[in-house]
Amino acid sequence: MLPTAPMLLTPGPLTTSARTRQAMLVDWGSWDERFNQLTASVRARLLAIIHGADSHHCVPLQGSGTFAVEAAIGTLVPRDGKVLVLINGAYGKRLAKICEVLGRAFSTFATAEDEPTTAADVDRLLHADPSISHVALIHCETSTGILNPLPAIAQVVKSHGKRLIVDAMSSFGALPIDAREVPFDALIAASGKCLEGVPGMGFVFLDKQALAAAQGNCHSLAMDLFEQHRYMAETGQWRFTPPTHVVAALHEALLQYHEEGGQPARHQRYAHNCQTLLEGMAELGLRSFLPAAIQAPIIVTFHAPQHSRYQFKEFYERVKAKGFILYPGKLTQVETFRVGCIGHVDATDMRAAVTSIAQVLRAMDIPLLSASGVPA
Ligand SMILES: *Cc1c(COP(=O)(O)O)cnc(C)c1O
Repeated sequence: MLPTAPMLLTPGPLTTSARTRQAMLVDWGSWDERFNQLTASVRARLLAIIHGADSHHCVPLQGSGTFAVEAAIGTLVPRDGKVLVLINGAYGKRLAKICEVLGRAFSTFATAEDEPTTAADVDRLLHADPSISHVALIHCETSTGILNPLPAIAQVVKSHGKRLIVDAMSSFGALPIDAREVPFDALIAASGKCLEGVPGMGFVFLDKQALAAAQGNCHSLAMDLFEQHRYMAETGQWRFTPPTHVVAALHEALLQYHEEGGQPARHQRYAHNCQTLLEGMAELGLRSFLPAAIQAPIIVTFHAPQHSRYQFKEFYERVKAKGFILYPGKLTQVETFRVGCIGHVDATDMRAAVTSIAQVLRAMDIPLLSASGVPA
């Protein structure tokens, strides 16, 4: 890493390893057989993470994560379908917005930002409206860091004979998801989150039968995952210019993922990062927004210090000058900021970040608590 590059404690783009960045120093031809092998290897490695080789296809798509979410909804939901969108944060709202823009009928069910959607909610909603064809869920709602109970909701959706579309952007690769046990038609993630690649490519795990039945649904040429998959299956190539360097970096990141110990090891490192962060911040008297039981080890929302001298912009700039990029809060009701636990970072980095935050708050003359909970 360049000595001046700060560490990204954000929900993406993330801090990547030098090895992953090195993998981008080669130019690849999109017709080249070696690049096609790289793509095939990436798709197979991604499928293996969810044990999905028998049941699902992995279809990559150029662009940021939202492109892949929009493509999944546009490809799978027929024009006379109806989507039940489950919302407890900004990314859930984005799902509804996508349905609106694509002209797909939808209804929404919102819970508070610190309240997971439950399987019982979904059961009730599906009983009440038989016209719903698809349910759309955010696994880890990155706007707070809350975890929604994917396995239980997936079973309920299946028991009603309905289809599930999951945005697992910020959880995939770190939290366990097993396609042999969790039924879904689509699960969406991207190169630049917990796999620690660089941003630029999304991918969708698509149930093989659901994809086969989706021809002609999509309103868009470039976002049609049925056609994207068909072309790739026939030629081994991307349908339009591939993000070659992103694919090469993701391949290298996946090798490191495997060497680290795969999903259990990634989860363990992030959980340790999260715990270290929570404990360090608690010692400063900075409280997290979510209770531990529903906090995913991905990103933590903290209440901002209740002090007239606190301003996020100044706080951010000062922490950045010490080498760490934080993230603004995304809640409407309370003033918060967020700190990511994901990326090529470990608990030592998290402790250093907490130390920097403490120094900055002291420099801003904002009183901190001592470990005993009284002002120091
Ligand atoms: C990051 C993220 C996305 C995608 O956002 P982009 O800015 O398009 O990459 C979608 N959903 C969730 C839950 C995310 O965390």
